[in-house]
Amino acid sequence: MTAALETHRLTKRFGKGAPAVDAVSLNVPRRAIYGFLGANGAGKTTTLKLVLGLLRADSGTIRLFGEDAAKARTSIGSLIETPSTYDHLTGRQNLDLTRILLGLPRREIDRVLDIVDLRGAGDERVGGYSLGMRQRLGIARALLGNPRLLILDEPTNGLDPDGIRDMRHLLRRLPETGDVTLIVSSHLLSEVEQVATHVGLLHRGRLLVESRLDALLGGIAAVEVDTGDRPRAAMILGGAGFSVRQSEAGNLLVDAEDPAEIAALLVREGQSLSHLARHRPSLEGIYHRHIAQAA
Ligand code: ATP
Repeated sequence: MTAALETHRLTKRFGKGAPAVDAVSLNVPRRAIYGFLGANGAGKTTTLKLVLGLLRADSGTIRLFGEDAAKARTSIGSLIETPSTYDHLTGRQNLDLTRILLGLPRREIDRVLDIVDLRGAGDERVGGYSLGMRQRLGIARALLGNPRLLILDEPTNGLDPDGIRDMRHLLRRLPETGDVTLIVSSHLLSEVEQVATHVGLLHRGRLLVESRLDALLGGIAAVEVDTGDRPRAAMILGGAGFSVRQSEAGNLLVDAEDPAEIAALLVREGQSLSHLARHRPSLEGIYHRHIAQAA
């Protein structure tokens, strides 16, 4: 199946320094929820603006659903940077402006208000909306016309915990509304981990990793263990040929599949275990490991 978005060595330079986007080749499968990750300044917004045609690339190509991007951009809806709204108008009236521009039927408004759970507040003035409601209104506007690809740049930026939770539920729901692919840029790794099917990690303009999320999280088996004498335990494990690191919690992290094997080895050598668990890697741990390797 053709990808929703495919870029090939996309490059954009501002001024003389290093490129903001450096030979980035993305592959976003259809129906993915693609978490586009990277620190501030990594180049996420610039990449998304290139895809949307808001900036012109220095080199590289962009294909949308197998077609040249210039021909297929009508299939994208986007929310990039803070959505601009007319505060004295209601949510419904704000959407109506875009609906008329796009030449869409009036019933489109109710459809998108339902998706973002704003039907009840649709007749209230946007001036009274919370930031979370404004973001959802921005997404409703991006959904007008039923785009096949939805690009959301930092949709959780500035939201409180309730707003972040609502946004998470909305993002999970969106692919169920039809044949839609979602690209969501964020630096909230734990949020991305909860919603994404795929991730791409950008660092200083370069794509460091692109993978299915389950492959990334499931790829590294490890056992987390601790004893009363951590240095001795590390020696025993190392002596038996296991590679040992420190876990985020400060315990020993052993590259091994089977916790029972590690426990038996340590007990045989007179160690008493105070902690034993299969280690589940987090997106945050993987993110930092890749950034450290790139440095
Ligand atoms: P953030 O999370 O802060 O939005 P980002 O990953 O989206 O970060 P970009 O906004 O794409 O990063 O910025 C990438 C780099 O390009 C930064 O160093 C930024 O200063 C630079 N940059 C972005 N837009 C411009 C511009 N219009 N002119 C000059 N430099 C720019």
